[in-house]
Amino acid sequence: MAPASRSVDGPADPPFAEASPDAPWATVDLDALRHNLTLLRSHAAGGVGRRGTGDTGSGPLLLAAVKADAYGHGMATVARALRAAGADAFGVATADEALALRAAGLDGMVLLFGPVRQRIPELVEAGVALTVAAPGDLTALEAAGAPGRAHVHLKVDTGMGRLGGSAHAGPALAAAVARSRAAELVGVWTHLATADEPDALDRDGRTERQLVAFRELLERLERHGLRPRWAHAANSAATLLRPDASFDLVRPGIALYGVAPSAWVARRVPGLRPALRWDAPVTFAKRVEAGTTIGYGATWTAARRTVVATVRVGYADGYPRSLSNRGRLGWRGRRVPVAGRVCMDQLMVDLGPDGEVEVGERVDVVGGAAPDAAEVAHEAGSFAYELLTRIGARVARRYVDAAER
Ligand SMILES: *Cc1c(COP(=O)(O)O)cnc(C)c1O
Repeated sequence: MAPASRSVDGPADPPFAEASPDAPWATVDLDALRHNLTLLRSHAAGGVGRRGTGDTGSGPLLLAAVKADAYGHGMATVARALRAAGADAFGVATADEALALRAAGLDGMVLLFGPVRQRIPELVEAGVALTVAAPGDLTALEAAGAPGRAHVHLKVDTGMGRLGGSAHAGPALAAAVARSRAAELVGVWTHLATADEPDALDRDGRTERQLVAFRELLERLERHGLRPRWAHAANSAATLLRPDASFDLVRPGIALYGVAPSAWVARRVPGLRPALRWDAPVTFAKRVEAGTTIGYGATWTAARRTVVATVRVGYADGYPRSLSNRGRLGWRGRRVPVAGRVCMDQLMVDLGPDGEVEVGERVDVVGGAAPDAAEVAHEAGSFAYELLTRIGARVARRYVDAAER
């Protein structure tokens, strides 16, 4: 028999730690977010307007991807800052995220990137636009008995292989959505699989083929008398590099946070400003003799007399354990190596023979004098998206506005 559940009522878990001097901090510069938004807009507009017709109008809408806590930056504050700076819409992955945006006071379009089967009436009531990728999604929407029509964006697969039927099946499902009394067809979209790779600029490449298939679908819809208001395809990479993929709306995520989607894109598009810097306090320091071992498994041995400092950040905070004996942090403007294995809550760094350090002094973990998110992630065998979205709840999020200083 299942144990009787006991009441655990009480205040909700706070999302992030308080910014106490004892905590690691992720400091987010709202001015950097605005700078990146402007940069993305300037690329997206690119002189190509609605559906590449040359009708420039005011350029495509900008939908900011703020799923996964705005890529670890903190969703509510980031979305409010981007909205104030002119972002038109927001993209999220879950019903919780969509409703949290509304609870945080965000107006404007909110699009759920994936189909959902739960909480549909709540979402419709909150004016969240839903994705329909298959006939079953429409059936579920109709069965949900929502108060009014849901704004629906039809998702078609043109080569990503994740969600949606083929572009060929698009018109039939679009027509079904348009006919439904539970839905209003307002958008049609696809997602690009290789827009951050050299293929993106290749006329015979996958990105090109995806865009051709998408344009053909839009033409077929048009022939059926269906012209959803927003056609969209572009992630950060396509927004920055392929203005012909802008259509009516672009959906950048990672580049808003000042990180390029790939090293290849970084080389082509300079000027993004990383919005997040992560640092953590020194909690202890000691001078050790040559031959001293450090940490679990005793995998690091001092080659000389040196100062080893303990830092209050570990893999439970999102610092990859694979950077044991490999990572580099930033201290007083220089790089200092991780000594031994990264622990759950702490790690040790070798400050060198002259490493006079104060307890409480802060050491850069990502950005500042430490390598940036792309470099740290690369050294860990990962990529920046994963590193940023895994920054844990024990890392306090702080917001600064460089423009106000
Ligand atoms: C996450 C996501 C984006 C943003 O992608 P970036 O590479 O971060 O720009 C855009 N569209 C969809 C559907 C997404 O899931």
